[in-house]
Amino acid sequence: MFSKPDMKASVCPLDCPDTCSLSVTVADNRVVKVRGSRVNPHTAGAVCSKVANYYPEFVHGADRLLTPLKRTGEKGSGQFEAISWAEAITTIHNQVKAKIDAFGAQTVLPLNYAGPHGLLAGESLSARFFHKLGASLLSRRPLCGGIRSEAYKATYGSVPGIALQQVAKSKMIIVWGNNASVSNLHLLRQLNKARRKGARIVAVDPKRTQVAEQADLHLAIKPGTDVVLALYMAQALEQLKAVDQNFINKHVLGYDDYQKMAARYSLQDTARICGLAQADIKQMVNWYATLAPAAIAWGNGLERNRNGGSSIRAIAALPAIAGKWGVEGGGLVAAASNAFPTTTSLLTRPDLVPPETRSVNILDVSNLLLDADLTPPINALFIYNHNPVIVHPNQNLMKRALARGDLFTIGIDIVMTDSMKYADIVLPACSHFEHDDIFASYGLQYLQRAEAVIPPVGESLPNTEIFRRLASAFGFKDDCFKTSDLDLMNEALDAQDPRMKGHKPSTLPTDLALKMSVPADVTNPDGTDEPILFKNVFPDTPSGKVELYSQALKDRYNLPLPRYQPINADFPLNLISPSSNKRITSTFGSVSDCDASPVLEMHPDDALPRNLVDGMTVKLSNDLGEVFLPLKITDAVKPGCIFSSKGAWFKTTLNQQTVSALAPTSKADLAHGACFNDTLVEVSEAPASMTLSN
Ligand code: SF4
Repeated sequence: MFSKPDMKASVCPLDCPDTCSLSVTVADNRVVKVRGSRVNPHTAGAVCSKVANYYPEFVHGADRLLTPLKRTGEKGSGQFEAISWAEAITTIHNQVKAKIDAFGAQTVLPLNYAGPHGLLAGESLSARFFHKLGASLLSRRPLCGGIRSEAYKATYGSVPGIALQQVAKSKMIIVWGNNASVSNLHLLRQLNKARRKGARIVAVDPKRTQVAEQADLHLAIKPGTDVVLALYMAQALEQLKAVDQNFINKHVLGYDDYQKMAARYSLQDTARICGLAQADIKQMVNWYATLAPAAIAWGNGLERNRNGGSSIRAIAALPAIAGKWGVEGGGLVAAASNAFPTTTSLLTRPDLVPPETRSVNILDVSNLLLDADLTPPINALFIYNHNPVIVHPNQNLMKRALARGDLFTIGIDIVMTDSMKYADIVLPACSHFEHDDIFASYGLQYLQRAEAVIPPVGESLPNTEIFRRLASAFGFKDDCFKTSDLDLMNEALDAQDPRMKGHKPSTLPTDLALKMSVPADVTNPDGTDEPILFKNVFPDTPSGKVELYSQALKDRYNLPLPRYQPINADFPLNLISPSSNKRITSTFGSVSDCDASPVLEMHPDDALPRNLVDGMTVKLSNDLGEVFLPLKITDAVKPGCIFSSKGAWFKTTLNQQTVSALAPTSKADLAHGACFNDTLVEVSEAPASMTLSN
């Protein structure tokens, strides 16, 4: 006898700026359908096709982890046997304790990223556990997002930019490096509203994306050169007398030094370096100079190269130079996470970290795992919320590192991923549909809470409970390891902050998306609801101004001003690996619709001299690896620049190498961040033995 389907409220937890509110159809304790709900007024009932199509299979499919597992075959082979939770926790404790006794606690390293974005599942009790243990710290932001946040913070401080919905009020929007139809869906609705009112839309993107197709102007820029375009715009605005000198005098630090740097790039140089037509650059500058409110909505791809930090800083400088801030729809859609009264220190307890604990850049993990001279060595690894063999650069190095015989690896995940196959013990984690959590957002300024809509599948447990059990096994008696999930929510956000409007985080209604409004007070006398930079919120940089010249970045990276560095072209083609329309990075790679290999997109001008034809399997190669992909020839991409989406799993390959195998481990100019889009390769026809069938 089947029970009647039930509709339950939830929130999308995935690594996406939109944080859509969801309506989940549940029958017999199973998720059968996921759709958008109208709880969040700006996701407004719409969700991406990935979430709508794949979640039931992700939660209940053949790859779902149902019990703890112990490895029985070679690392990477995927051979395991089921064990009890008691045996799993005891084995982990005994093995990790033995490593700590021999090498000290810093021999342990957490290797986690942003699988789920709930504040509890993301990083709460897990951080407390590793801090108390004295494990090596992981600096995880360099993998993605760290460059952008450091660049923005140096320029404006920890304040939010304009809210996404204000884009609808803009008269000009520059969509810069943001393939919104794939990775920022709800920007499209706002763009369409603005367009209907006559707004000009400019897309700056090396690929003719859907947004670029519909834009009034598309600048197909060469990857890694955005800083040059933005610097040129700054000097052109001055030449056009379109700078806001009063605003600059009052609110900007380092303007003259900045313009001296910008003056290095003439229109001709900019067009040549960026691979753009001079007329298109002039058109964009003229619109930006004359139209207001004007907004910039950027994406993540911009930062993934050697000039990433400089590009973000130079783009962020434009609204300050042109005086675009201070009105609804004017400025930069950015830093929504700064709109929330989060209390991360209370949640993660960095005060538990022993003094002198080392910190490891996430991009260095594979090198350090293989470093025979590292003291202490990393001999125990906890992988959770992360799929490192698929998403880290230099994939072959990561595989070698995880295959190390004396490394004890604990994996925690919802499904059996390619990375979990390298673990000695695998622990089954609940999906967010199976536990309560609370969700801030890095794209929309709304706080949402969700409750479990089904019980845990199999023997899976929420991350919080897994780390509670681990803490108990290691004898941690502090009260902070006994905190319930509801109390963790109350430690994640400051209930006394006026933005919470009297709501306790743990009892925030699940049919409410709480808008992070600015309270009416002395800095906000007209009671404007949303944060508007230079109207009711102000930079909290050291100078209190927009820092175009940054002493902090000079001290840390010798980068007081944005600068451009050309790339060393060892190979002729620049491989860009953007978000997929089938996965959120690598999440959903388990579902059957993600079995096929992604295509490689190449311009006819690159295909012709290489005798490559549409549909054939091609080999992409450089010093780091070889990847085989089906070829799609298209003029939607720039000559010299090829595209294949990131996050595909090894099941899509014949040789267990995906695009990450070709990506360098070089670091960007800020935040020691990843340079995925500095991948250079050659492409040739694949041998017959490597022909893909899809
Ligand atoms: S992945 Fe993004 S667009 Fe898709 S449902 Fe989740 S938050 Fe919305």
